[in-house]
Amino acid sequence: MRLKQIKLAGFKSFVDPTKVPFEQQMTAIVGPNGCGKSNIIDAVRWVLGESSAKNLRGDAMTDVIFNGAASRKPVGQASVELLFENTTGRLQGSMADRSEVSIKRTVNRDSVNSYFLNGSKCRRKDITDIFLGTGLGPRSYAIIEQGTISRLIESKPQELRVFIEEAAGISKYKERRRDTENR
Ligand code: ATP
Ligand code: MG
Repeated sequence: MRLKQIKLAGFKSFVDPTKVPFEQQMTAIVGPNGCGKSNIIDAVRWVLGESSAKNLRGDAMTDVIFNGAASRKPVGQASVELLFENTTGRLQGSMADRSEVSIKRTVNRDSVNSYFLNGSKCRRKDITDIFLGTGLGPRSYAIIEQGTISRLIESKPQELRVFIEEAAGISKYKERRRDTENR
């Protein structure tokens, strides 16, 4: 599983449609303070289903929509699409036999969120499900930020267990069990 491309439009400072390709084994995003580097990470977390505005460095969920600049008016919708290569079949469920998987999320000013899997409308859960056990999710360890390591070291045993279970691939079975028990 490899992230091939991020497409953003109307998301935070990325008002115009922008493609960020990841062609090499390692990509570094560099630029001056405030140019939008962290906004790209916020975009990844957002499309994976993040539902806390605080974790996206905002006050309200609609704060991710471009809210205008000196020379530009605000826009009505934010959209982010991630394109994954899935040749190793790491992405499971309905996407197991797809060599390329696209996930997309949009939100408008009325706080209406929409999710898409390979272009078809889906639920948030359909997206979070295919990433269970891959280490990639809105709050999983694939995104290591400033302060994450110390938080891990200082975390309570119960919190540490969540990371270990995700790394060991157990969390997806737990999630399925919770689902079954709730039916
Ligand atoms: P640093 O090097 O300081 O970490 P950075 O490159 O990570 O900087 P970001 O935090 O990604 O920068 O970007 C901050 C910029 O994004 C600010 O200029 C802020 O005004 C802009 N921004 C954030 N949300 C929005 C929004 N909804 N609409 C327009 N601009 C936004
Ligand atoms: Mg930053």
